[in-house]
Amino acid sequence: MSYKSDFDTAVEELCETFRFLSKTGCRGFDCSKESLNIIESWGHKEAPSPETLEVIRIDLGECCRCRLSESRKNIVFGAGDPHARLVFVGEGPGYDEDQKGKPFIGAAGSLLTKIIEAIKHTRDQVYICNIIKCRPPGNRNPLPDEIEACFPFLKRQLAAIKPEFICALGTFAAQALLETKQPISKLKGRFHDYNGIKVLPTYHPAYLLRNPDKKRDVWEDMKKLMKALGD
Ligand code: URA
Repeated sequence: MSYKSDFDTAVEELCETFRFLSKTGCRGFDCSKESLNIIESWGHKEAPSPETLEVIRIDLGECCRCRLSESRKNIVFGAGDPHARLVFVGEGPGYDEDQKGKPFIGAAGSLLTKIIEAIKHTRDQVYICNIIKCRPPGNRNPLPDEIEACFPFLKRQLAAIKPEFICALGTFAAQALLETKQPISKLKGRFHDYNGIKVLPTYHPAYLLRNPDKKRDVWEDMKKLMKALGD
């Protein structure tokens, strides 16, 4: 039995490639020094590969870009499908989320889970995160400089996930994503645009726990989202 040498195999592959190129109309290559120098001088740039959530999380590190790092227990980065078609963006972690480092796991989280299930999805099929990643002391509202420090990371997360839809939960999520000061009551219930992603603002689940009569409004919004998702 005879074995082909690596050299023979390489020559055969080259011949095959040239035969193929010749069939496509290629009649040769200009490999003169002058041509190569000209092409070289045009430079080359690798196509930027999209960032992964893991890289963004590593870059965030043990963040101390704002004062919330002093009082938080855990950073709440986000959870769910890294390729989700739908991302829910809340305000910021509460007590339970800070304890465990996971988004929406307290009382408001249980209601969000029910909302997600009502639109025929599971938490694993969507991605859930917040405008800020650390709990404000006493669950106070996030301050503008805290949002400003944290928002670039959410921006990168959304660029990595590339969802078709974002459901913005409450005033802070809607206002930060849409760069507006309009109240949630004016923004909710219709699709807006964030970098080509359709954003549907609705009331925050914690607000629904305090105002159960608003659940019907949120259900109307979710029906629009379900229709747009089409699955
Ligand atoms: N409220 C939010 O906005 N986010 C959470 O993760 C939990 C409660």
